[in-house]
Amino acid sequence: AATASDHTVETTPTPGTATTTYNIVFITSEVAPWSKTGGLGDVCGSLPPALASRGHRVLVVAPRYAAYPEASDTGKRITVLDVEVGFFHTHIKGVDWVFVDHPSYQRVGGLYADAFGVYGDNQFRYALLSLAALEMPLQLELNGSLYGQDCVFIANDWHASLVPVYLAAKYRPHAVYTDARSILAIHNLRHQGVFPPSSYAMLGLPGNWYGALEWQYPPHMRQGSYEEEGRAVNTMKAGISTADRVVTVSPGYAWEIQTPEGGWGMEEMLASRAYALNGVLNGIDGAEWSPESDPHLPRRYGRSNFSRGKAENKATLQRELGLPERPNVPLIGFIGRLDFQKGADLVLAVVPWLMQQDVQLVCLGTGDPGLEAGMRWMESSYPDAARGWVGFNVPMSHKITAAADLLLMPSRFEPCGLNQLYAMAYGTVPVAHATGGLRDTVLPFDPWKGTGTGWTSSPCTAEAFQAALGTALVTLREHPDSFRALQLRGMERDSSWDAAARQYEQIFAWAKLDQP
Ligand code: ADP
Repeated sequence: AATASDHTVETTPTPGTATTTYNIVFITSEVAPWSKTGGLGDVCGSLPPALASRGHRVLVVAPRYAAYPEASDTGKRITVLDVEVGFFHTHIKGVDWVFVDHPSYQRVGGLYADAFGVYGDNQFRYALLSLAALEMPLQLELNGSLYGQDCVFIANDWHASLVPVYLAAKYRPHAVYTDARSILAIHNLRHQGVFPPSSYAMLGLPGNWYGALEWQYPPHMRQGSYEEEGRAVNTMKAGISTADRVVTVSPGYAWEIQTPEGGWGMEEMLASRAYALNGVLNGIDGAEWSPESDPHLPRRYGRSNFSRGKAENKATLQRELGLPERPNVPLIGFIGRLDFQKGADLVLAVVPWLMQQDVQLVCLGTGDPGLEAGMRWMESSYPDAARGWVGFNVPMSHKITAAADLLLMPSRFEPCGLNQLYAMAYGTVPVAHATGGLRDTVLPFDPWKGTGTGWTSSPCTAEAFQAALGTALVTLREHPDSFRALQLRGMERDSSWDAAARQYEQIFAWAKLDQP
């Protein structure tokens, strides 16, 4: 049987400059710091500069959701899908950031939805983005020259999944972009861009390409009323079947989406493309998440003094939260969206047991009202040992990450996950469900070999999670030297974006070898 390791990308370390350089075009619905709802925005804000610093020419294309002061109007206007779009440009961190301007992007609500639900024209908005992005290398001069036809397009999630389709259906038949390659990057397969079959007509594709977008849902997976006998236009499906290669945000997730548990109905199609499917782990932004320079921490620290540094952060957090100031009590953290995916209910399920182990538990999150109520129940039931902070609070997330000894991540599924990477960089040991990116990054502690950076549990039950947590607490209390070594191994882990950039280079090289 195939495993996650079949999808890893081995690279020889060539820090510095790439030997072969490419013209790379990212297409994304969100990009930090301009627009962000989750990990996608972070990746598209960090990976492009990492590639640029290795010598590639890199362009990131995203919607102009608002007037961004640093981006100025290029003056260029083109017509796609019968409407006129403009381009706003800035050059920061070695990357060309271009924001596509059209009235449909500027909304009073969020990026994709407002209080009344998702916007009815999202399919149009992102088809427009995809086509505009494909015209840019041909028409838009940046810093004095065009990107030209020899590009690598990286289309992110369903919003940009039509990029490989347009490339194959509209450009290649006319001998345009024959050397270009397309890569679909999947950050979360759960959102696929599903629309009624009749919407195909407005996408500007030739009629004989309809089959590439059609998806037939089995009866038990049908949602919504727009599908005719279970048929729909599925944007992500079109991208998966048309892109030259597919990348996910971890090798483990690349494997999981080929199984019925993680494939959302697409597992067989993904398995049929397994030869072109890789996982590249996300990195972390060292400017934001480094215990040596983190402005949110009352006391900064590095590898040489992490025990003392963490102890001071712990004492300060205990005072701030009104918990008993006890240096030796294990402090356990949980940070994340309170929803089914993140397994906050499993944390609540082990609370009664955990509270008998003489520990302190600090949780931070927002989301599901029932789980938020659970957080408040926990705090009022165990006022001397538990805090359930309901809210989105970035400084607090940094303080918990630095102060805690252990960080809980019982996610049911996790394409990559960032909090376990932050935790390890801060000398905080993750206890996680063995799934997706968590399985790839949290290596189980082996006391005999002296290896590993945390604990993972399986299956995804409260019992298995409690057992792993119990082992972690025994190690913390009775084998402090082993625990310190675990912390240090986590801090030494290479979570740089440069490592990810090198793996992407290997994938570009493979894409170039294949004939589209
Ligand atoms: P996802 O994108 O699925 O939500 P990730 O682990 O990839 O999960 O990224 C989530 C990001 O949001 C992390 O940086 C995490 O620290 C942050 N985060 C989540 N909940 C909160 C919160 N309540 N307060 C502060 N930061 C949060």
